[in-house]
Amino acid sequence: MATRSFDAPRSRPYRSYPNDRLDAGRREGVTTSERIAVEGVAVSTDHWIGGERVASADRFEDVSPIDERVIASVARGGAAEARAAGAAARDAFDGWGRTTPKERAEVLHRIADGVEARVAELAAVETRDNGSLLRSHVRSVMPRVARNFRFFADRLLALDGSADATYDGNAERVTWDPAGVTVVISPWNAPLMLATWRIAPALAAGNTVIQKPPEWAPLTASLLADIARDAGLPDGVFNVVQGIGEEAGAALTSDPGVARIAFTGSVDTGRLVAEAAAANLTPVSLELGGKSPFVIFADADPDAALAQAVNQFDNAGQVCLAGTRLLVERSIYDDFIDRFTDAAAAIRQGDPREETTDLGPLITRAHLERVDGFVERAKVAGARLVFGGGVSPELGGLYHRPTLFVDAPGGSEILTKEVFGPVLTAQPFADEDEAVALANATDFGLAATVYTSDLGRAQRVSERLVAGTVWVNCFFVRDLNAPFGGSKDSGIGREGGVWSFDFYSDVKNTVVAPAPPTSDRPSEGEQEGRT
Ligand code: NAD
Repeated sequence: MATRSFDAPRSRPYRSYPNDRLDAGRREGVTTSERIAVEGVAVSTDHWIGGERVASADRFEDVSPIDERVIASVARGGAAEARAAGAAARDAFDGWGRTTPKERAEVLHRIADGVEARVAELAAVETRDNGSLLRSHVRSVMPRVARNFRFFADRLLALDGSADATYDGNAERVTWDPAGVTVVISPWNAPLMLATWRIAPALAAGNTVIQKPPEWAPLTASLLADIARDAGLPDGVFNVVQGIGEEAGAALTSDPGVARIAFTGSVDTGRLVAEAAAANLTPVSLELGGKSPFVIFADADPDAALAQAVNQFDNAGQVCLAGTRLLVERSIYDDFIDRFTDAAAAIRQGDPREETTDLGPLITRAHLERVDGFVERAKVAGARLVFGGGVSPELGGLYHRPTLFVDAPGGSEILTKEVFGPVLTAQPFADEDEAVALANATDFGLAATVYTSDLGRAQRVSERLVAGTVWVNCFFVRDLNAPFGGSKDSGIGREGGVWSFDFYSDVKNTVVAPAPPTSDRPSEGEQEGRT
């Protein structure tokens, strides 16, 4: 088995790195590129390794989903850059892993300050890059990025590492020791928020980090590197390797010197990441896809349930937690479908930079075609299209219309596979048993939502639902102290609060015997075999 070595000889101090560690073939093409302006914000399109901007000869095009224009040519890293980032992160671990929690918490708070100061810029770049609503980025997503850092800074200081117990006369002390280099890989639907949800606790735990941003929305990672540098995070503690998943991502996850892998993305990629991690026995935390049920009982507040059901189209359905399967009690089903259809007709689709827009585009043309494939196959399978399907005729481009199917045959693809677009299904149910059976009839188990005014029923049903998170008469809200993760194919592990520190740390128990009086000390012979 390959060993993790964090005290590997430092072949060079940071500053003389990076290009001399790149493969000879690539070195020739390495140039230092200028920053480009995206929505008026200066953004580097290079890697960030060991506290320096590192270019690659290979580049990939970053296309904005808003108008399908190329907005950046981004460094396309591979094995060489992954190796270089690994070396830089391991070097930096020597120092960062020995800082005190208080020192780390102070840096994390300064990063949060930097995020807060640049919310408008981060939001503008993220919207241009991934097509999500600017107003959401400004009002909730980027503030949440700052909160990711603040929360884990404070939570770190609240970890109880004191003498925890006395057993058999010995004092036992639990400590959350830094684990080492952490690779963070995240998707494009909320790039900075999802990445920092893992980066912040990893840094708080004393780990160093290599982020591989999503190739469809890679730019805010570069701004985070600027913010972290300005906040005083030492060189090499946070690194960004840009590139394609199968290249840069695969190289990073197969590095035996990596101590933790935090992956958010699809189930298929999650399996590949888990395989790569297994080869080195690297602990991996997987936050994967969903096909969550949204259950509405006849006794639910009809307006609240309807409004929240319509919200499942948010971010053009590109939300892992979205309740894409509407399960509605039969007695109110027809009326609900009518009201839902009217409410969905009021959704304003358009440029996500406009304040009045509710729904933006899908991320790429390939993804649009994938979503469209689901829609066409659902029709062929016999599902009835109530509204939507296809691209908005007024907008064209990647603006897929909100779509609802009913009467889909049981077990058909549209009821079981994750579409990750603005496509919902509705099914009626007769009673609690049927609601639970339909809700659990999926390989996923990320989340579930239940609307009912009967709290006894809410408890009975939520106990039987297989999901990492169950919301009752609410959606999408949670304390960062709470465990978050998926059951079944939706993931492995839980993060949030102390669960994050459990994953990003090498949790250690130190058992200290009371010092024996000198005369009672066992002889060498007596000591043998006592382990
Ligand atoms: P994806 O799996 O295609 O890509 C995710 C990331 O993995 C990207 O950064 C990509 O570059 C990288 N990657 C691709 N191949 C790789 C490989 N072989 N090795 C290492 N990295 C590789 O997913 P996506 O299409 O970007 O995102 C959508 C998916 O993410 C959906 O399934 C969605 O439900 C899921 N998601 C889950 C959560 C959660 O918290 N559970 C949150 C958001 C999104």
